[in-house]
Amino acid sequence: MTTRASSAQAGPGQPHETPPAPAQDWPGAEALRPSSEFLRLAQRESGVDIGACYGCKKCSNGCPLSFAMDLHPYQVVRLAQLGQVERLEKCRTIWVCASCQTCLTRCPNQVDLPRFMDWLKERLYKAGGSVEQARTLLFHRLFLAEVKTRGRVFEGSLMARYLIKSGGALGPEALANARLGLAMFKRGRLKLIPAGTKQRRWLKALFKA
Ligand code: SF4
Ligand code: SF4
Repeated sequence: MTTRASSAQAGPGQPHETPPAPAQDWPGAEALRPSSEFLRLAQRESGVDIGACYGCKKCSNGCPLSFAMDLHPYQVVRLAQLGQVERLEKCRTIWVCASCQTCLTRCPNQVDLPRFMDWLKERLYKAGGSVEQARTLLFHRLFLAEVKTRGRVFEGSLMARYLIKSGGALGPEALANARLGLAMFKRGRLKLIPAGTKQRRWLKALFKA
């Protein structure tokens, strides 16, 4: 006899023969259980007052990269408020965010979302967790290596190294990037000779810190 049939036969006030499964047994229900523990930790360690967000979505409406995100920026804050750490760790949004600060400028409560996203990335990276956007992480590493070497980024070398290491050196991605590079060069936006900084000592101290 099915549960539905048992329920139909149970009279008013009588218990069901097979009680409904408890909420925690339903797929995904665990992930929706709110917890303020993470909110407190996140605020303390990131220094961002995410509790101040009241969900007006001004951040998301102004974000130039929301088209490439799986969660809107305001959803990142909301999930953090509800303690949904796993959802945040698996999302693409924190890796897509370019730290352009537009959301912070628009936020009526000065919720520093780029800083919060950086904290989420750093936390995940330090914990050795799997990064959904492994190629973005690779790009971050190569970008920083460029800055460490010259104090500036030389796009030609950065893209060549990125394409080789990410396995896209011979595919259509390389061709698309070559076209883009040529267009940038024609507009004077891409140099052929890398520039460097004279502030070597300062740069060294910065990376040491
Ligand atoms: S703009 Fe600020 S307050 Fe509004 S949803 Fe975004 S983070 Fe929250
Ligand atoms: S800092 Fe990130 S989340 Fe904020 S507007 Fe820019 S790309 Fe979007």
